[in-house]
Amino acid sequence: MKITFLGTGTSQGIPVIGSDHPVCLSTNPKDKRLRVSILVEWDDFAYVVDCGPDFRQQMLRIDCNKIDGVIFTHEHADHTAGLDDIRPFYFRQGDIPFYAHKRVFGELKKRFDYIFTTKNKYPGVPSVIENEIKNKPFKLGDLEVIPINGYHHKLQVFGFRFGDFAYLTDMKTVADEEVEKLKGVKVLVVNALREREHISHFNMTEALNFVEKVQPETAYLTHISHYLGFHDEVQQKLPKNVFLAYDNLEIEL
Ligand SMILES: [Zn+2]
Repeated sequence: MKITFLGTGTSQGIPVIGSDHPVCLSTNPKDKRLRVSILVEWDDFAYVVDCGPDFRQQMLRIDCNKIDGVIFTHEHADHTAGLDDIRPFYFRQGDIPFYAHKRVFGELKKRFDYIFTTKNKYPGVPSVIENEIKNKPFKLGDLEVIPINGYHHKLQVFGFRFGDFAYLTDMKTVADEEVEKLKGVKVLVVNALREREHISHFNMTEALNFVEKVQPETAYLTHISHYLGFHDEVQQKLPKNVFLAYDNLEIEL
């Protein structure tokens, strides 16, 4: 299995528009973060988790020409706003399978009604296949995917376990029985916004405590704000099996 970090930034990305914060001005490519998303590949399959406003740029920069589907963690704009840009995949492949909570489909239908409508569709508008995710395992090809239920302030969010790999973003609270589902995972990705507490995201301390609970071999932190600091400086302070993710980072397992 290969994981590519398409984006590792929080909702505004880094740099933030108009910001003169030193991290936003950094010339280190690792300090430039598009909105969070990953590509998960195994055998001939390729699935994208989330489809934020940087989706087009993310697909172009890794030269991705085929996806088997899009899996959504939740409906916030930094995870869904790029949806129209599935068009090139739709033109080549036909209807694109989407996987999401029922509530997320409801929200997507409000924002992208022209994609989900079945009547009088404008030519060139993409179509999708709706696959509803409940909090129970589902199959993608031959692989069982286990949803991990969590909360982003009061909003339900899904993380996902793909075999030995798990990806959780935008989490603030995860119940113990959900943490159990992560036991034995080799690589864990989890959100770590900044040092200071936040109402809907793990801060660094909470993220590291979560890693400690799950005990993966290796952990990567994502959904990072410029307030967390420079990539290289933050990395030096982390435990030896914990890494700050950065855009275009690839991991194989
Ligand atoms: Zn987010």
